[in-house]
Amino acid sequence: PQQDRAQLSSLLDATTRASRFFQEQLRRSPKAIEYLKQRGLTGEIARQFGIGYAPDDWNALREAFGKDYDSPALLESGLVIQNDAGRRYDRFRDRVMFPIIDQRGHIIGFGGRVIGQGEPKYLNSPETPLFEKGRELYGLFQARQAIRESGMVVVTEGYMDVVALAQYGFGSAVATLGTATTATHIQKLFRQSEKVVFCFDGDKAGRKAATRALENALDQLADDREVRFLFLPAEHDPDSFIRAEGLEAFKRAASDAMPLSEFLLQTLRADLDLSIPEERAKLVHDAKALIPKISAPILQLQTIRLLADDAGMSTDEVSLALGLRPAFKS
Ligand code: ATP
Ligand code: MN
Ligand code: MN
Ligand code: MN
Repeated sequence: PQQDRAQLSSLLDATTRASRFFQEQLRRSPKAIEYLKQRGLTGEIARQFGIGYAPDDWNALREAFGKDYDSPALLESGLVIQNDAGRRYDRFRDRVMFPIIDQRGHIIGFGGRVIGQGEPKYLNSPETPLFEKGRELYGLFQARQAIRESGMVVVTEGYMDVVALAQYGFGSAVATLGTATTATHIQKLFRQSEKVVFCFDGDKAGRKAATRALENALDQLADDREVRFLFLPAEHDPDSFIRAEGLEAFKRAASDAMPLSEFLLQTLRADLDLSIPEERAKLVHDAKALIPKISAPILQLQTIRLLADDAGMSTDEVSLALGLRPAFKS
């Protein structure tokens, strides 16, 4: 444990120093500044999120770290990579750098975006003892006060979504880090707010991400918690939407977002023709995989009632079919 703590602190030291270096480099790079400006970001918001720039150089961090460049921490942090011949080089080159900050305000990793076109569009730090992707939410550290004030947290897909929303005055957004929403994410979110609004991109991938989030949210629900899903027009993500439509439109969309119960029913109904008894049976059959998992007892009953309406059955019949006890008897 002593050793683990020493390792964590040397990792933290490496990411913190690197972040300071990337921020300095941004100030010196007209090209990177121009890119951020063209994406509509001000210097103030860039500072608020600690955005930086990794120079177009295989060994820029050597300059920043001097003799410490050869210490194990840089390798372990994934900032530096060693090839088979033992040569070390920087992972992030010619990229805009987004530091990933944990709840204590520690920099635990980075996401780096290519400037303009290029593959991969985003490159993330690898997992380290400091950084576990399925646990962290980008922007949560900065968003905490706004989340408390607004009584909701909006979950997006991307770094730029969080930063653009904040730039436009919507400060209570966070992002998953290129991974699906996990149960751990959802636990963390509910610790911040009773109301969680998922807002993924309006494309097919975003829709799929919403379905995953739905499945992972069911057993985290409580009757004083609320989960909603905001579906943006197909061509938009939160960043492009707020730029095109403005803050008020985004706020309105967030408060009108689809309740989880309705999204659940919509997911179940997809592709079914409910004028046919067999397909109404399939509807209830498919619901067995979802509705029994709802950990909010009253909401579970409410959802059963919605399903019963669609299935043309009574709530008691549906409850029995789902293997649950009849809804309104105790
Ligand atoms: P931008 O607006 O800068 O083009 P975006 O955030 O809208 O980026 P998406 O393609 O919607 O980009 O991806 C959403 C998120 O998924 C990114 O912010 C990033 O965290 C992650 N991601 C995207 N592409 C990759 C990739 N090639 N490798 C790893 N993660 C990625
Ligand atoms: Mn996308
Ligand atoms: Mn996007
Ligand atoms: Mn985008």
